Amino acid sequence: GMPALPPPVLSERRKTRQLQVGPVGVGSEHPISVQSMTTTLTSDVNATLQQIAELTAAGCDIVRVACPSADDAEALPAIAKKSQIPVIADIHFQPKYVFAAIEAGCAAVRVNPGNIRKFDDQVKEIARAAKDHGTPIRIGVNAGSLDKRIMDKYGKATPEALAESALWEASLFAEHDFYDVKISVKHNDPVVMVRAYEILAEQCDYPLHLGVTEAGPAFQGTIKSAVAFGALLRQGIGDTIRVSLSAPPVEEVKVGIQILQSLNLKERKLEIVSCPSCGRAQVDVYTLAEQVTAGLEGMEVPLRVAVMGCVVNGPGEAREADLGVASGNGKGQIFVKGEVIKTVPEHAIVETLIEEAMRIAEESGQT
Ligand code: SF4
Repeated sequence: GMPALPPPVLSERRKTRQLQVGPVGVGSEHPISVQSMTTTLTSDVNATLQQIAELTAAGCDIVRVACPSADDAEALPAIAKKSQIPVIADIHFQPKYVFAAIEAGCAAVRVNPGNIRKFDDQVKEIARAAKDHGTPIRIGVNAGSLDKRIMDKYGKATPEALAESALWEASLFAEHDFYDVKISVKHNDPVVMVRAYEILAEQCDYPLHLGVTEAGPAFQGTIKSAVAFGALLRQGIGDTIRVSLSAPPVEEVKVGIQILQSLNLKERKLEIVSCPSCGRAQVDVYTLAEQVTAGLEGMEVPLRVAVMGCVVNGPGEAREADLGVASGNGKGQIFVKGEVIKTVPEHAIVETLIEEAMRIAEESGQT
């Protein structure tokens, strides 16, 4: 048949330099990747690898591990070797761990400029080691740890201060002919954060890693990240993303993937189109939508499933989906590709939808 057209996106990606984080390409020529960070002690290799496996299964592209101690640095080679996805070592203060992480085969190293001044004269050596190993550096500016000189100049972590801090550190590496750099400028206020990235995007062509820091518990953090990333992605800004939540990292990955899928920046897999319900509903739509979602979780084929509470808008919407149900009178009309294939009693709706979804998946050869 006809090749499917790629789904529309809101804007072209901002053109950036390209870099490799292990096998994952980062920059405007590559898909936007989803990152998260482990919460285990990095020195506990097994627990960390277990969590990385869970993140990998959830669809995480790149994982970051904190490296605050010598024990953590010693664990890096085993973690970098056994992880299924590229590992970025997150290092504040200690340059010796930067070298350890590069030697350990980490796919990248994240450093924080509030601290780099302490090793100004070591930037050259870090740049050389990173270049020798093909290891990119992420310059991660955080509002909470801005360089003192910049804090004195701006008084607080303004968008300009965040951007200037990051660009200054990038220039330290550029002086040594090192450009394999990705930048983040995180702030807990989405407005400040968005503006900081806009300034960066105007002033450099490094790939940018988006994040709202300390975004909060799952509900608040999800919304803050979604609106901030949306505002930037609308302008083509953003090459990797991390949703920070005070919640297990797998949740961060799910939200990150959903944000990208919402903007057609990542292929949609299972999508449930369920109605909000209203006074016309003849079925408990919330429960039905939840049951269908749970029953189809993990489907690997793109599938749009409509769950509609009545026969007013129900059939119309269900027809637009790959698969759907419109309920009424204790029954469900099951639609596949716009055709009613059967009508089943209400209690059989969920199992019938799951059966049909499996059949569609099998037929597409992507089970
Ligand atoms: Fe209401 Fe029916 Fe629309 Fe659902 S599909 S919101 S029940 S009119």
